[in-house]
Amino acid sequence: MTNIDFEAERKRLVNYLIKTGVLKSENVIKAMLKVPREEFVPKHLKNQAYEDTPLPTSHGQTISAPHMVAMMCEFLELRVGDKVLEIGAGSGYHAAVIAEIVAPEVAKNPGHVYTIELIKELADFARKNLEKTSYKNRVTVIHGDGTLGLPEHAPFDRIIVTAAAPSIPKPLIDQLADGGILIIPVGEPHFSQVLKRVMKVKDTLKFDDLCDVVFVPLRGKYGWLG
Ligand code: SAH
Repeated sequence: MTNIDFEAERKRLVNYLIKTGVLKSENVIKAMLKVPREEFVPKHLKNQAYEDTPLPTSHGQTISAPHMVAMMCEFLELRVGDKVLEIGAGSGYHAAVIAEIVAPEVAKNPGHVYTIELIKELADFARKNLEKTSYKNRVTVIHGDGTLGLPEHAPFDRIIVTAAAPSIPKPLIDQLADGGILIIPVGEPHFSQVLKRVMKVKDTLKFDDLCDVVFVPLRGKYGWLG
């Protein structure tokens, strides 16, 4: 475990995701090459950081598999300067990848990522991971119920939900900017879920089903179990 060349492992994983057609865009590829996933997984799982699989964080929750992070970033069509809301901070890894795309260090007009986490210990875990990897100024972690969105910072250019909802929470649609994209898994708590995309153009909404997925359940007011 001590002698792993994480950078080489990261390159190998990114090449695999390019080969399998999951990673396509230069900005997403660059971000996945840059963000050290080994710093976001629990210490004892570091040696598995570059396996293309979800890993446990705590409280029965997970950090999504790298191919899912890559796919969702591709679907979001992120641009430098975007203001992004993520529901489900977990480890903070996905937020860091998004921040690397919308707010790269060289950007003149950087964007920002707000990420909400319902479980206090995980919000602290995400914050700590983002601090030690230098994303602290580009990502704000909030402890709370993300199904309510974050009205004080709305509207958002992009919204991403990383847990499966019974239906699309209305506050999130309301807080999507004109020209905005929302990506959210919708379906039963542990199976039969579809990744959905909502695009808003001048108050008109366009809904698309993207693919079948498996996520942990979204909780909170507009989630499962209230
Ligand atoms: N994006 C994360 C993975 C998230 S797993 C990463 O990169 O590591 C989904 C997370 O959503 C879990 O940590 C879970 O606690 C959180 N969650 C569930 N319901 C929520 C809600 N209503 N608001 C905010 N977070 C929620």
